[in-house]
Amino acid sequence: MNAPPKTIPTLAFVVPCFNEELVLDELIKQLTLLSAKLLQSGLISQEAQIVLVDDGSVDNTWNMVETASVTGNVMGIKLARNHGHQPALLAGLMTAKADILVSLDADLQDDLEAIPKMIEAYMGGAEIVFGVRSSRKSDTWFKRNSARTYYKMMHYLGVDLIADHADFRLMGRKAINALREYGEVNIFLRGLIKNLGFPTSTVEYDRAARVAGETKYPFRKMVRLALEGVTSFSVRPLRLVAWAGLTIALFSFIYVGYAVIMRFMGHSVSGWASIVASIYMLGGIQLIALGVIGEYLGKIYLETKKRPQFIIEKTTAD
Ligand code: UDP
Ligand code: MG
Repeated sequence: MNAPPKTIPTLAFVVPCFNEELVLDELIKQLTLLSAKLLQSGLISQEAQIVLVDDGSVDNTWNMVETASVTGNVMGIKLARNHGHQPALLAGLMTAKADILVSLDADLQDDLEAIPKMIEAYMGGAEIVFGVRSSRKSDTWFKRNSARTYYKMMHYLGVDLIADHADFRLMGRKAINALREYGEVNIFLRGLIKNLGFPTSTVEYDRAARVAGETKYPFRKMVRLALEGVTSFSVRPLRLVAWAGLTIALFSFIYVGYAVIMRFMGHSVSGWASIVASIYMLGGIQLIALGVIGEYLGKIYLETKKRPQFIIEKTTAD
């Protein structure tokens, strides 16, 4: 049986902003224009709301958001500190009230032209529509290749991700409500949302370069997000550690047998090099194994505290 046809939805854009004073005006201008176009073509039922989440910026971002909220259809949410991109995005998704929410980056790297197609896919029955990059031309060689390796590794670890999809996506109300049920504080949204189920669809787009300012995702934050993705969704690294331990144990068993035989045959082993080498090697492997276990333990530690996922200091609606 087909689902009943959807009524024309209301729309909100959800945009996390961290020190984005250089792009904010352009962003609001373009989203307002797009909103008018969408309304005109009958894809949305009223002017779209622009939800800007200030993730603890230290520049002029919040002042600009407040000013924009007076004249435009803008709602500002100010987080109490810098929580990071994922919690900021979640704060916006949990606060916005519209029927469908489109999340995108503040720097206009995500192609706005893809949004009408996303809404069409939603009207066609999809509850979640993923924006997928058709190329990585605008990336550095390093980012392109590290991303490719990462998606391969995640696939191997059994994590269901959509390659080349970041956080440019449309979500319907049902999906948002389902996401609300996930109380975890270690947030990797693109994994969580893929996990929700629902009919989904994808729209391809070309990712542009940042319109202004510089990346707010330095290498350190990228690594953190990547690790978050692995340890939030897969316990396979823990199993790999156990397998490595078992394999090494097996080999050392064989080696001990060999050494004993050699001893009885009168060729006593004289080299200390092999001993020293194996001590260092085993020590290293043990430390790595401990590190992996520690990473998961840390995660459990954070989850058991049940701290809030984000803290809103104020909104422009207050
Ligand atoms: N961002 C955020 N909090 C942070 C870091 C980034 O809200 O701690 C936002 C940022 O303002 C932007 C989006 O996350 O809207 C993506 O960041 P950016 O464009 O700098 O990342 P890149 O495209 O370079 O990976
Ligand atoms: Mg960017």
